[in-house]
Amino acid sequence: MLLSRANLRTKVTLLLLALSLGPLLTSAIVNENRAVATGKAAVRERHAQAARFAAFAVSTLFEDIQRDVRMLATRFPVGALDADAISTRIEVSKGLLTEAPGADDIQVFNALHGSESRTFLALGDGRMFFAEPFHNVPQPPNLNALQWFQRLGPDGGLTLGDLAPLTQPGRPSLIVIVPLKGPDGGRVGFVGHILGQSAIDAIIGESIWIDRFSGARGEARPSVALGLITPTGVYAAHSDPRQAGRYAAPYILEHRFPGTAEVDRDGDDVVIARADVGRTRWYVVLTTPRHGAYRDVYTVIWLLTAVVVLTFIFVLLFADYLASVLLRPIEELERGAQMIGAGALDYRIELNQHSHDELGRLAGTFNNMGESLLRTRREVDAYGRHLQVANQELDAMVYAITHDLKKSLRGIEAFATFVEEDYRDRLEAEGLDMLRSIIQNVHRIEKLADDLIGLVQHERERGENVRFSLMELLREAREHCMVAHVGEVVIQPGMPELVGDRVRINLLFTNLISNGLKFNRSPRPRVEIEWSDLGAYWEIFVTDNGIGIDPRYHEHIFDLFFRLNPKDEFDGTGTGLNLCKRIVEEHRGTIELESAAGRGCRFTVRLPKDPALLTSPGVEL
Ligand code: ADP
Repeated sequence: MLLSRANLRTKVTLLLLALSLGPLLTSAIVNENRAVATGKAAVRERHAQAARFAAFAVSTLFEDIQRDVRMLATRFPVGALDADAISTRIEVSKGLLTEAPGADDIQVFNALHGSESRTFLALGDGRMFFAEPFHNVPQPPNLNALQWFQRLGPDGGLTLGDLAPLTQPGRPSLIVIVPLKGPDGGRVGFVGHILGQSAIDAIIGESIWIDRFSGARGEARPSVALGLITPTGVYAAHSDPRQAGRYAAPYILEHRFPGTAEVDRDGDDVVIARADVGRTRWYVVLTTPRHGAYRDVYTVIWLLTAVVVLTFIFVLLFADYLASVLLRPIEELERGAQMIGAGALDYRIELNQHSHDELGRLAGTFNNMGESLLRTRREVDAYGRHLQVANQELDAMVYAITHDLKKSLRGIEAFATFVEEDYRDRLEAEGLDMLRSIIQNVHRIEKLADDLIGLVQHERERGENVRFSLMELLREAREHCMVAHVGEVVIQPGMPELVGDRVRINLLFTNLISNGLKFNRSPRPRVEIEWSDLGAYWEIFVTDNGIGIDPRYHEHIFDLFFRLNPKDEFDGTGTGLNLCKRIVEEHRGTIELESAAGRGCRFTVRLPKDPALLTSPGVEL
C-alpha cells in the first residue's frame, strides 16, 4: 500500500490531520447545514413578511375607502333623490351641476383619497353620474352593461374594472362600491370610488423596499416580482406595470395557501410567498428565482467553505510542523545510527531536551554502543598492526632461513654429485641409488624453498588499488600460462572492469588457469573463463576439463602445502590455491570450488564492484 511506503513524517502528519480534521469537518458540515437551513428559512420569512406587509397595506386602504364610501352612502339624501330631475340637470359635456339635491353632502367627496381618486354615483338603472372631482364625460357609461358590476353583492365590495371615461385607457382600475339604499330599504344605486393606481403602486414599491430587496429606495431587484391578484386570477397591480390586468401564470395561481414555498417553474425554481388581503379573496403574491433569493445564503456557504479550506491548509501546515518537531529526535537518532553504521564511531547523538525520556535513553544506548565499538576497533587496529609487524618479521625470517637452507642444500647437492662422480666405482649399486635419492630430495627441498621465497616475495609485492580491465589482465595471464602448458583458454567477451591490486589479481587468475591446464589429462586441455553480474559483486568462473577434485578434499584444497597428486605426475608444492584464497580475501571477496573426481573443476571468484568495500571492515556475502 502507498501509505506503508510513506516515511514516518508523512504518516504522523496524516495521523494528526485525521485527528484534527474529523471534528473540524463534522462541525463544518453541521454548521454549514445549519447556516443554510437557517438562512433559507430567514429568506422565506422575509418574502412572507413582504407579502404580508403589502396585503395588509392594501386591505387597510380598502377598508378606509369602504368606510368613507359607506358613510357617504348613508348620508346621501336618497329620499329627495329624483333620478329624472338629476338626469335633466346633467349637462352633456359639463357633468353634474351644483344645484343637485343634497349638494352640501356632496362636499364629503372632497375628503376621499387623493387627487387621482374618483368618487361616483350610479343609479339603479346603471346610469352613472360623476361627482368628485368634477369630470367632464360626454357620454356617461351605463354600469349595468358591465358584468362585474352586476355581480356585486348587496354590501358592495371590491372589483377591478376598466371605466374608460374615468381611468387611463387600457389600464384596469380598482373600484370600491357600496349600495345606495332608498327609504324603503331597497337598492336605488351605488356610490363608488375608483382608486388611484399610483396608491397601489406605492404600496407595492414600499413592500419591496421595506424588505431590503432593493439596493436603493424604490429600485426593486429585477428578479423580485410582487403582484395583487383578484379572485379571478387577474393582476390588479404589479411591480412590473405591464403585468397589470393580465392573468397570473398557472404556477402562481396553483399556490393557494398563505405562506412560502419553492415551486418548479419550467425547471427554474422560484421562491413564492402569498398573503391574503383581509377576507376579500384578493391576495398578494411575491416571487423570486431561487438562486437570487438565496444569494446571501450561497455567499455564506462560500465563506464557510473558504474558512474550512483555509483551516484545512492551516491544520495541514501545523500538523507537518508538529510532525517535524516530534520526529526531530528520531531523525537525529537515525542520522546517528547511520553515521555509526558507516564507521564514524566517534559520532555522538545529542538529544539534550530528551535526556529523561525513552528517546534520550535510546540515544544514550547508541552513544555507548559507538564508544564500545570504537574501543574494540582501536584494539583490533592495534592487534592488526602488531600482527602485520609479526608477519613481516616472520616473512623476513622465512626468507633468511630459506636462503640459508638453499645455500646448505647447494653444498649437499655439490658434495653428493661429487661423491657420485668420483666414487662411482667404489660404491655399490645400493649406495649409488641412495646418493641419487639424496640429490632428488635436495632438488625437491630446493623447489619448496623457491616456492616459499616466492610466497614471501609475493606478499611484499603488493600494489595500490586501481581500476583496470579484467579482459586485458586475463589475456596477459593466458599468454603467460601458454609458455609452460598446452591447451586452450577461452575468455567470454565483455569482461567487466575491476578495482583492486592488479598484480595480485593477475597472480590469482594465472594460478587458476595454469592449474586448470596442468591438472589435466584430457587430449585437448581447455579452460573457460566466464562472468556474471551479482549486483554488488562480479562473479568470475574458471572452468577446466581436467582431472577434477574429489569432494572429500574440497575442505582442505585451499590449505598451505596441500597437494593431492603424486609428485612425479604433476609437480608443485601446494602453495598456489592458498595464495589465491588470500588474494581474494584481501579484496573482500570469496572463492569456491565445485568439482567431482574426473569431471573437471569450476572455481567461482566473487569480487566487490564498489571500491569503498575494499577498505570497509567485514563484508558478508
Ligand atoms: P600446486 O599447484 O603447487 O600443487 P595448488 O595449491 O595450486 O598447488 O594446488 C593444490 C592441489 O590441488 C594440487 O596439488 C592439485 O592436486 C589440486 N588442484 C589444484 N587445482 C586443480 C585443478 N584445476 N584440477 C585438479 N586438481 C587441482
